[in-house]
Amino acid sequence: MKCTSCNKDISQDGIGFKCPQCKKRLTRCNNCRSLIVKYKCECGFEGP
Ligand SMILES: [Zn+2]
Ligand SMILES: [Zn+2]
Repeated sequence: MKCTSCNKDISQDGIGFKCPQCKKRLTRCNNCRSLIVKYKCECGFEGP
């Protein structure tokens, strides 16, 4: 499992969520989540 924003391995301290657009499962590390780093899904959706 890797962070969608920074590509860091987050097998332990990440959260999973779904892309609002394509419902693909995305994951983000706690660091990026607390910093509200943007993510970009492979479908092109960008979110906070
Ligand atoms: Zn991250
Ligand atoms: Zn998507």
